[in-house]
Amino acid sequence: MKIEDLRIQEISREVRDGCQELNLPDSVLRQCMDKLRAQIDLGLNPDTRDKSTVKCFNTYVQDLPTGKEKGQFLALDLGGTNFRVLLITLNGRHFDMQSKIYVVPKAIMIGPGEDLFDHIASCLESFTLEHRVANKNLPLGFTFSFPLNQVGLKNGILTRWTKGFNCAGTVGRDVVEMLNAAVEKRKNTLKIDVVAVLNDTTGTLMSCAWKNHNCKVGVILGTGSNACYVEKIQNVIGFDGDKTKPYVIINTEWGAFGDNGELEFIRTPYDKEIDKNSVNPGKQLHEKMISGMYLGELARLLLVKFVKDKILFGGQASPALLEREKFLTEYISSIESDPRGVFKQCRNVLSKIGISDPTDQDCSNVRYICESVSRRAAHLASAGVATLLNKMEIPSVTVGVDGSLYRYHPHFHNLMYEKIPELLDPRIENPTINLMLSEDGSGRGAALIAASGSEHNV
Ligand code: ADP
Ligand code: MG
Repeated sequence: MKIEDLRIQEISREVRDGCQELNLPDSVLRQCMDKLRAQIDLGLNPDTRDKSTVKCFNTYVQDLPTGKEKGQFLALDLGGTNFRVLLITLNGRHFDMQSKIYVVPKAIMIGPGEDLFDHIASCLESFTLEHRVANKNLPLGFTFSFPLNQVGLKNGILTRWTKGFNCAGTVGRDVVEMLNAAVEKRKNTLKIDVVAVLNDTTGTLMSCAWKNHNCKVGVILGTGSNACYVEKIQNVIGFDGDKTKPYVIINTEWGAFGDNGELEFIRTPYDKEIDKNSVNPGKQLHEKMISGMYLGELARLLLVKFVKDKILFGGQASPALLEREKFLTEYISSIESDPRGVFKQCRNVLSKIGISDPTDQDCSNVRYICESVSRRAAHLASAGVATLLNKMEIPSVTVGVDGSLYRYHPHFHNLMYEKIPELLDPRIENPTINLMLSEDGSGRGAALIAASGSEHNV
């Protein structure tokens, strides 16, 4: 008997059957792709955008980096788990970056908007004072990774909060204006020049394109999930940017795909439970099946189901296992990092949540559950990327990817690398698709865009 067969035997039939609804064959992924493509086409047209769940916002970024960008820039990275302030020096191929992470307290994440922007300005002030640049009026790129309807390189109207943020009095307002107002309160010490607002996907695409000119797609697999790509301006109906340039980066905001029911045919009771308990029920349904903020909880819900069915741990749960969000997405990465048939990390994780002495069969089942959750996420992300590549019709593309889920999960890259080519349109001949890990897209990407949006560009 092959080792693989032995492993399959160890997984309980009930677990295999119960996870079946997370297994999406290519035919189902192609259905998702067709629906996503339809939403993208609606999003690219201002007359139909309201109806679309995938808004495809114009970023007003029309130049990929040349490698000649030069100067000193500030960047802010707000978009989920960490808030960072960065000081970046670009000089040809040289790149220097100093940064500091600041906490955004939960009370500020869901408090009044003014408090959030005051907090950002206060962190910016202390960082720039520390680095002796507080008064230099440096150009700043604001990486603000929530859905923004951009009306210019430095104008973005917030359309909704995601990823656990929900600040009152901000939706429908220009986030750069709100930042400037907060900075203005500190004008005696702080002088900055916000020259661009961007999304982390755009930053990722730019930072990867700085290294690799073939990069035409940026993907985020972190707290949330989103993607952007280089589109021909003739495909953007009513394009109001620079019409003398052939391309523009489109921020798809694909996290909201499914919000009009497009994904109901694959959503499971676990997905519905996650959504119900979130701060944004009914919203970002695609993101909730894919990204780091939700995968651990998805796995936990499955684990609890199988404990209740008396398939796992002799039917005995621990208090932590029964508590929401106590099973971290990081745990999935640890469990899947064990070599096949070895359960060292698996036992380690289980002991952290109060499950002692699991059997080998328990561990095998736990791993299978985690794999089912991560494989579905990776395959849905692959379907998204393949949809963009099929639309772009370019045979050779590098996809820049940022986010801790992609970076640290031991198999996410391989799952996507295998799946994307299988979903490409057969009319694309000899495709060469690379997935490139972005080295700090939110920081360097912001600086690169700030460089093109400021006179400091050479
Ligand atoms: P952001 O998207 O907010 O910029 P990150 O890219 O760091 O932040 O992503 C944070 C998300 O990544 C969290 O939801 C967390 O659960 C997930 N994450 C962090 N570490 C790991 C890991 N080792 N394996 C899988 N997911 C992880
Ligand atoms: Mg990030």
